[in-house]
Amino acid sequence: MQTLVSGLPARYIGRFAPSPTGPLHAGSLVAALASWLDARAHGGQWLVRIEDIDTPRCVPGTDTLILQQLAACGLHPDAPPLYQSQRGSHYQAALDPLIAAHLAYPCACTRQDIERALAERGQARPRHGELVYPGTCRHGLQGRPARAWRFLTETIKPNRPPALATWAQAAPDSVADQLVHWQDRRLGAQQQDVAQVVGDFVLRRADGLWAYQLAVVVDDAAQGITDIVRGEDLADNTARQIMLQRALGLPLPRYLHTPLVLGANGEKLSKQNGASALDLTQPLQALDEAGQVLGLPAGLSARTPADWLQQAVALWGRATKIER
Ligand SMILES: [Zn+2]
Repeated sequence: MQTLVSGLPARYIGRFAPSPTGPLHAGSLVAALASWLDARAHGGQWLVRIEDIDTPRCVPGTDTLILQQLAACGLHPDAPPLYQSQRGSHYQAALDPLIAAHLAYPCACTRQDIERALAERGQARPRHGELVYPGTCRHGLQGRPARAWRFLTETIKPNRPPALATWAQAAPDSVADQLVHWQDRRLGAQQQDVAQVVGDFVLRRADGLWAYQLAVVVDDAAQGITDIVRGEDLADNTARQIMLQRALGLPLPRYLHTPLVLGANGEKLSKQNGASALDLTQPLQALDEAGQVLGLPAGLSARTPADWLQQAVALWGRATKIER
């Protein structure tokens, strides 16, 4: 649909970044479709990235199946997919300067160590099953062997809106000093105090695998991504990713988090709670259902996915505008 002009900087590059832990389901198609529509509606490129860094969770062959499912729905990437499993040297090249700048430090703690430290502080409440790291190893390992690498969240001065910045100057120790702010195109103004809510998060795991946050930030920059369109379940990662983008001097993309598809139990549809794979024999129906989640009208009269997408992209373009 969109002719690419090589050698010229694209104004818009979007991406869909599935984990090959299972085939696409109705929920993941919504994110794929939204990112494709937004890229095409703004004359941009659309890329696919296979997020296969968590190798024990990946299912062999699923990457191919996902690409086939996307193709059946008429969603064709503009370049061969990038595989995170092949990009370890790039993640190391990002971690090294963070270590040199004392923005990343080794951590010796096991989960039990973290639970104990939090309990001693009376703070043993997990957040999405994850523990808020209490900063035990910030000032050294005390002779214990390093296991993971963590990002030091408290030294970064995140971006702030002018009003808050003025207020924070008057109260330098205030919580506002730690806040990361961003504008989500659907959810509006967002903020998170990463140091308080998440703590120093992992960049490289104790099992040697790269953490999602670092890989995403490095790859989005490497692929020149200007616009991140993904499911709302990932919105909570945005502040951590902005912190890393700032620490690494990377461009800040725009964000649009799309509505989630809920299963019968009211929870987000996911591979983990048994969402069924998209039916490749009914791509029009799958597109129609995904489109309705995104606010597109039901029953566009189309005979092929390409036909459906052409109508949908025109509707999406009218409904969404990007400020440049
Ligand atoms: Zn530690």
